Amino acid sequence: MAGIGRDLSIATLGSHCSLQVLKGAKDEGFKTLLLCEKKRVELYKRFKFIDEIFVVNSFSELLDNSCQERLVQSNTIIIPHGTFIAYLSSEQIEQLSIPVFGNKWIFRWEADRELKQKLMEAAGLVVPRSIGSKNEIHGLSIVKLHGAAGGRGYFLAWDKKSFDDGVEKLIKHKAIKSENELYIQEYASGVPVYLQFFFSAISKEIELLGIDRRYESDVDGIGRIPAREQLALQQEPSYNVVGNIPLVLRESLLPEVFSMGEKFTKAAASLVPPGMTGPFCIEGVYDSQGSFITFEFSARIVAGTNLYPEGSPYSCLIFDEPMSMGRRIAREIKIACEQNALDKVLT
Ligand code: AMP
Repeated sequence: MAGIGRDLSIATLGSHCSLQVLKGAKDEGFKTLLLCEKKRVELYKRFKFIDEIFVVNSFSELLDNSCQERLVQSNTIIIPHGTFIAYLSSEQIEQLSIPVFGNKWIFRWEADRELKQKLMEAAGLVVPRSIGSKNEIHGLSIVKLHGAAGGRGYFLAWDKKSFDDGVEKLIKHKAIKSENELYIQEYASGVPVYLQFFFSAISKEIELLGIDRRYESDVDGIGRIPAREQLALQQEPSYNVVGNIPLVLRESLLPEVFSMGEKFTKAAASLVPPGMTGPFCIEGVYDSQGSFITFEFSARIVAGTNLYPEGSPYSCLIFDEPMSMGRRIAREIKIACEQNALDKVLT
């Protein structure tokens, strides 16, 4: 991280949660830079807290040496989010010369379903069973694509035939080339909950900054169609995220929430140094017994944090000022600068 420290710019890609991230960076006194695809320039020009818009034809231009040199020269730190890891492969992220906030080595563990399951199990989280092959599907299962697809293309299967039918549709829509690209997981029944954490690499403390649930099309719309019509239509649910809904939990559930967050950061510290630093999200359902079953994690800021640009019912218990996740990231960078400890928060 040589050279970094003065006149820092905070940058991100124009999508996902970039508005919240750059607003938070500006509130903490940083220069802000947005890498923006041509088609979205008009949108982002509306926001005065963005100091510079760096127009690209495609986000993959971030990989060009000239682009990276320019960002390194202007003392830029990049904040990874869902679009960042969807556009760049784990190898490409690991090879970036621009400093990345948090642990860039952990994105491989988010993208690869087997590694993901390994980390969740090492953390002692209750996870749905992975199903090795379509011949082993005996109960309700959810079939997923790899990577941060935002639920797109997921389908339900309950036996080999329903799996084959789903695969045929995905191949027809060119979403996959073969069924080997899919991952099968036991379906966890309950109500979905997304826990938004921040782990400070400086104070070594975990903070719960918000909770949300996703609004998914059309699984969240199917209930609007009466049962008779549902049966007639034979409609299959899809899990395409279109937005997020705020949520608070029963207070009696919070001890377990913090314990899950802590167990996750401990497991990450031993499996993927320097561990799970910065924002992350544990994603799952509460079942009818009130047990939490974790089906996913995101090892970076999630878009559900966009609900709380002015802070959440949880962040206000920690901070006496509005604290979004984007601002919390910038605050961590600021504290790290003051303590001459940027190497703890960047990779
Ligand atoms: P993901 O992108 O993996 O977070 O999943 C997208 C959506 O699929 C989630 O918000 C859930 O609605 C659903 N989902 C994913 N995994 C499971 C599971 N094992 N059981 C039940 N629902 C799931």
